Amino acid sequence: MAHRIVIVEDDLDITRLLTLELEEAGHEVHAFDGGMRGLAGIRELKPDLIVLDLGLPDVSGAEIARRVRRTDATPILILTAADDVATKVEMLNAGADDYLAKPFHVEELVARVGVQLRKHHGGAPTTVGDLTLDAMRKQVWWAGTEVKLSPRELDLLAFLAGQPGRVYSRVEIERNVWGEDLPPTSNVVDVHVANIRSKLRDAGGFGVIRTVRGVGYAIKG
Ligand code: CA
Repeated sequence: MAHRIVIVEDDLDITRLLTLELEEAGHEVHAFDGGMRGLAGIRELKPDLIVLDLGLPDVSGAEIARRVRRTDATPILILTAADDVATKVEMLNAGADDYLAKPFHVEELVARVGVQLRKHHGGAPTTVGDLTLDAMRKQVWWAGTEVKLSPRELDLLAFLAGQPGRVYSRVEIERNVWGEDLPPTSNVVDVHVANIRSKLRDAGGFGVIRTVRGVGYAIKG
């Protein structure tokens, strides 16, 4: 399974080696040699995983991790020259999923990338009651009947299904599904929820998404 990976690292020898090995492992790799360029690349490319150098010339890796975490859950693996407890704590607080201290073996990095990708983008479909959602194959079923959703509808349903029963506000849904805050007057979330409900109803699924008045939406846990 090919995934899109963004590397943000100013040491070009490391970048070259990582790109080679990750492409060899079948991934699509995009590399950036500065923090600001890296952030812009992450926003544009929406990668499945980010490899981030902690010591960058402009914006620190920890700051990039914090900014990415404000809007999404993309797994982040940090490369660091410092292997002390304070640095580790800072990285984990910033939202890193894993880290490797330099110098590292590239085989270990590729293996850890694989672990994070399986954890975050694993092949097993999600099941909530009669709802089955396969995010990787972009397919949804209700009690065995396939429900044809648009990519955005599927993202929204997958987001709610990530934690059944939990109520998500419209802003949380916007940030995670659209990647940004939509104008306050926008009713795009409600429109998408209405479309998903209508398509689920056609397949026999009633009351799958709950409206919590004044708060947001939840999938029935
Ligand atoms: Ca560096």
